[in-house]
Amino acid sequence: MWHAKSREAVLQELQVNKATGLSSQEAKVRLDKYGANKLKGKPKKSMAALFFAQLKDMLIYVLLAAAVVTLFVGEYMDAVIILAVVLLNAVIGVFQEHKAGKAIEALQQMTTPRTLVRRDGEVREINSEEIVPGDIVILDAGRYIPADLRLLESANLQIEESALTGESVPSDKEADARLEDPKTPLGDMVNMAFMSTLVTYGRGEGIAVATAMDTEMGKIAKILDEDARELTPLQKKLEELGKILGYIAIGICVLIFVIGLIQKRELFELFLTAISLAVAAIPEGLPAIVAIVLALGVTRMSRINAIVKKLPAVETLGSVNIICSDKTGTLTQNKMTVVKYYTATPLGDELPVELIKTLVLCSDATYENGEGTGDPTEIALVAYGHQNDILKRSLEAEYKRVSEKPFDSDRKLMSTLNQTREGYRVHTKGAIDQLLRICTSAVVDGEVVPLTEELEQQYLDAAEKMSDDALRVLGAAFKDTDRLLSPEEMEQDLTILGFVGMIDPPRLEVKDSIREAKMAGITPVMITGDHKNTAVAIAKELEIAASIEQSMTGAEIDELADEAFAQKIKNIRVFARVSPEHKVKIVKAFKAQGNTVSMTGDGVNDAPSLKFADIGVAMGITGTDVSKGASDMILTDDNFTTIVQAIREGRNIYANIRKTVIFLLTCNFGEIVAILASIVFFWPLPLLATQILWINLVTDTLPAIALGVDPGEKDVMKKKPRDPKESFFSGGAATGAILGGLLIGALTLVAFYWGLREHGYGLRASDIPEDVMIYARTMAFVVLAASQLFYSFAKRSDTKSIFQIGLFSNRILVGAVIIGLLLQFVSISVPFLAAAFKVQNLSFADWGVVIGLSLIPLLINEIIKVFGRMSRAKAA
Ligand code: ATP
Repeated sequence: MWHAKSREAVLQELQVNKATGLSSQEAKVRLDKYGANKLKGKPKKSMAALFFAQLKDMLIYVLLAAAVVTLFVGEYMDAVIILAVVLLNAVIGVFQEHKAGKAIEALQQMTTPRTLVRRDGEVREINSEEIVPGDIVILDAGRYIPADLRLLESANLQIEESALTGESVPSDKEADARLEDPKTPLGDMVNMAFMSTLVTYGRGEGIAVATAMDTEMGKIAKILDEDARELTPLQKKLEELGKILGYIAIGICVLIFVIGLIQKRELFELFLTAISLAVAAIPEGLPAIVAIVLALGVTRMSRINAIVKKLPAVETLGSVNIICSDKTGTLTQNKMTVVKYYTATPLGDELPVELIKTLVLCSDATYENGEGTGDPTEIALVAYGHQNDILKRSLEAEYKRVSEKPFDSDRKLMSTLNQTREGYRVHTKGAIDQLLRICTSAVVDGEVVPLTEELEQQYLDAAEKMSDDALRVLGAAFKDTDRLLSPEEMEQDLTILGFVGMIDPPRLEVKDSIREAKMAGITPVMITGDHKNTAVAIAKELEIAASIEQSMTGAEIDELADEAFAQKIKNIRVFARVSPEHKVKIVKAFKAQGNTVSMTGDGVNDAPSLKFADIGVAMGITGTDVSKGASDMILTDDNFTTIVQAIREGRNIYANIRKTVIFLLTCNFGEIVAILASIVFFWPLPLLATQILWINLVTDTLPAIALGVDPGEKDVMKKKPRDPKESFFSGGAATGAILGGLLIGALTLVAFYWGLREHGYGLRASDIPEDVMIYARTMAFVVLAASQLFYSFAKRSDTKSIFQIGLFSNRILVGAVIIGLLLQFVSISVPFLAAAFKVQNLSFADWGVVIGLSLIPLLINEIIKVFGRMSRAKAA
């Protein structure tokens, strides 16, 4: 019962020194002993389980039944081929699922929470999974508690424990509390912090007393269900579409079977053909292909520093038309330097010592040997002190901090209470406008005088001037007292000392990204807690805004009703002095205007706006665990440019899914056309069941995946964002698929006819010898496969020719098509395979004929594109 023990007893029992923490070696020993600090999940599916899962499919049962029938009839070769197809299909399915799962898992790994611990005498950030009992854990607002901790220190620490207790109001924590009763309920253990709960305010330190399944969370955790896989809207739509098409395909197959029966065709052959056609035509591979395209896509995105946490975000990214971005760190470098200061009386060459002292004492950052840690704003302040020989370390030794009120972005202030020789002094720093509100006096000529309106205006004017130069302004104030004040009492009746101005240069690459975004029909919007003038100055430099009229402050937002605000928002590019609540309002207003909005955030209070946005973007470096948890995407480099790049990738991935799906549907339709037409017109079947299965395998896998990873068109970012309501088949895609399918089917029949004709038979002849049939079918077999393979090139772009887009710019597709053609060639020229598939090698001239026929769909598609380009040029 750790809560009932004193801090010393706990430290003693777990054998650790609070000041230095565990040594790395000791931590390693303990990690081996206690295991990784994570809750047990469901055991992962083995490869074998994945494989058998693939076989649990209606279509597979049908095929297996067909295999049994072929065995009974004595067509052993057919049975072998059908079984081989079933097997191959399952293996490919396993591979795709495995690969997709791996990619997602790798992404999850990248987003596992990290924790600050003290080890070997220094503070380090490590993966939360590496925490061991005895680790000294440092807590600050926004972090998840990584293990069960006995608190050692707390400064206004508040922890939200709803994950454990269901209570969503944060509980106050107190490291000093002595709880005697060993039966204290969890919710009342104020000197403990529990795994998976969340620090919402304040700071603290604790010692890990239980990890992994030994924690309170571990005790109640049901085995985590890792199977809950989220489908994207598109995946859901395609799944529905697949079902409908599946029923249609089955209908057609039944139809073919019935017509064939009436025509008194050979029953067994008809049965097999109908089944194979069903297998070929039902787009059962669609979900798998889409899943792998998405998985490969998000893996690519993680390489450009954008980690997609929720798959649906990939699709939504393509329709984003507003990017709301924080300023500090995302648009700027977050490398701050103090360059100016202001006090009511000019000091000349003298240093504003008191001003600097307050700013340094009221900072949590450190600056040693030219290296800073902590919040960049504070690092700048401590470094500024350092430059002027006002060292934080010595100041703190002299004026010990006894209490504090932490910074939060709503108040935009922070205060500390430090001991002095006579008593205590409050040091407060923050946004100058907020600060002036709580000041009643000012230091003028070394004297404390009442803060008159005139004096206040003088400060504001001076601050305005600095802001106009894009400087971030931070003020300082103080008050002396003889007693220990509560945090509530600190920020009132202060004496203002002055303020400093710091530069935070814009990120160099951001300007280009903003241009690119604008070209892509996307409006970048700056959102910041900083002063309006500072924000607008930087926005102008980055070409986000052209004038101050395009900006608004949080206070101005509050004055407007929601509707009036939604009306006005169209013209606003900069929101300044906003708090996290305003961010929610901004997102809502943009969405009310029909926009698809992405919003960045890093703080504890940013979670709601990140959730509300269509794409919530969290910062990987400076972001809190809460903001990451609420986001759809994490930027590992905190950079605005990455958002634009992610949008480009998102657009590409969507386009690639579209290409793949339409390609697959076109091919399947072609197969149906060839068989259905021959049945309806009383022609012999141009393809055998095994041949259809084979072609389906060759074309539905490699070329489809290759299209799915297409590098994409260079001008994706010159188009408008996709309307989220736009149909997947817009822009004539459905017609294109139907026409393409008709063409492929017709050409297959032409090839078949050609083969018969050469040997002097027509389609209606009743006495075609077996070897002539084999020859004609071979021609149909090659044309059906090769035309699909060639056609995949045409599908890379709806508008550009295969040469404009670069014949070899998708090497994987080139490889896939070559492999497909080779497989086709091998299957008819290797005697054993040729016998199995009932095909034979073609004459040299006929190779020419089949290749020529196979190129026609590609050629026609290219010609249509030329006409399309001409008519668009005319229209423009
Ligand atoms: P962005 O919202 O673009 O990230 P920001 O960093 O300016 O910009 P906040 O961190 O919310 O936004 O800061 C808002 C204001 O609060 C700043 O302009 C500054 O005046 C003040 N401020 C920032 N950091 C501190 C701090 N550590 N202590 C006191 N005041 C601060």
